[in-house]
Amino acid sequence: MIGVFVIPMLSDNFSYYVYTKGNIQQGFFVDVSEPEKLTAFTTALQITTVSHILTTHKHGDHSGGNQSLATQIGSTLKIVGGANDNIPACNHPVNDGDKLDDILPGVEITCLHTPCHTRGHILYYLDSQEESKSDFTITQEKGYQHIQNINRCVFTGDTVFLGGCGRFFEGTAEQMLSALDRFGALPDDTKVFCGHEYSVKNLEFGMMAEPSNPYIKEWHSKFAEMNENRVHTVPGTVATEKLINVFMRTRVESIQRELVKSDDPVKCMAFLREFKNTGALPGSAKI
Ligand SMILES: [Zn+2]
Repeated sequence: MIGVFVIPMLSDNFSYYVYTKGNIQQGFFVDVSEPEKLTAFTTALQITTVSHILTTHKHGDHSGGNQSLATQIGSTLKIVGGANDNIPACNHPVNDGDKLDDILPGVEITCLHTPCHTRGHILYYLDSQEESKSDFTITQEKGYQHIQNINRCVFTGDTVFLGGCGRFFEGTAEQMLSALDRFGALPDDTKVFCGHEYSVKNLEFGMMAEPSNPYIKEWHSKFAEMNENRVHTVPGTVATEKLINVFMRTRVESIQRELVKSDDPVKCMAFLREFKNTGALPGSAKI
């Protein structure tokens, strides 16, 4: 089983430490922008070596700590990232479908190339060979949110957020549709760890885009309460995202009819992104 610690960085970024049950020393980090926060975490949890960083994409708020950690730790530090994404200090470039089997014992890690937010963006999907029958647990340990007993999970960077998706900086609506289709094809119980705490704002948008969806309202209240109690909203699940993430619902007929009067999901995706970017219905004057 997989365990994950959430390490907040910058204003609303999430970095993570990932390990397997019973072996907290042999783990990896995801998306490090502030090395000093990584050091504070390893000191607090008494983790003695930093051997791997998996980077979802090149943007500084996800990869800004790579170079100084590479300098500090040396060539034993493996920095994994998308082969065509210009990740700082990357010495282990990966492509779609690559497996990283030697990092966590008993866990298969698959790299999914999802170009759009950046051209080399990678999702990391982890599948544990040892299945737990009981559900995951969330506790606080030394000030860090700690999720245990995970059978499978995915680190989505800025491609998928809870209730939303990243901007199309280096890609198209068609590419985001295919990225979200791949994400949606993962098992329903896959836990979702995204790159930012945007959940409440995303669902505020979701309520505007699909006002008739009761799940969006329900989860908006849950997420808002979590934020008030200083609890991070991660992890989500693939099953819940299918219900509350409007960007994953571009094939739902009622949404298509309401927003674009067309059954083309690409058109619907482009419309939603534009709507979210501007805060106004595309084609109408900005409020
Ligand atoms: Zn980004």
